Amino acid sequence: MKIAFAKVNRSPGDFRYDKGELDFFGKLSRIDAHQVRLEGTIEGEVEWECDRCGASFSEPLHHPLALRLSDRPLPVGADLDTVEFLDGIIDIPALMESEIASIRSEYHYCPRCEGDGSEIDLEF
Ligand SMILES: [Zn+2]
Repeated sequence: MKIAFAKVNRSPGDFRYDKGELDFFGKLSRIDAHQVRLEGTIEGEVEWECDRCGASFSEPLHHPLALRLSDRPLPVGADLDTVEFLDGIIDIPALMESEIASIRSEYHYCPRCEGDGSEIDLEF
């Protein structure tokens, strides 16, 4: 699912993308000639591998996100919540993939290990 920058208006428009167990939905609105705001949520059931015992387990995910999208190269030091789409096309599946990848890079503990006196909090 791809959306052209040129088609995003100042009044927020809905988008929704489903992939397997995951659902990414929200609104896109124009900030200025080269920037678009995305406010959305990724929801669904995700399979994790426990970082302590290695067991696979699935858990519901509810991940709100707010991003600024730009079709121009970002200046050095631009804020980290800005994503470039230099071809002027907003690639919703790619955004979801990169969010999921960054969530995966955090620590996850299965329900058994989580109740094991772990001091690391899961953030969902
Ligand atoms: Zn475990």
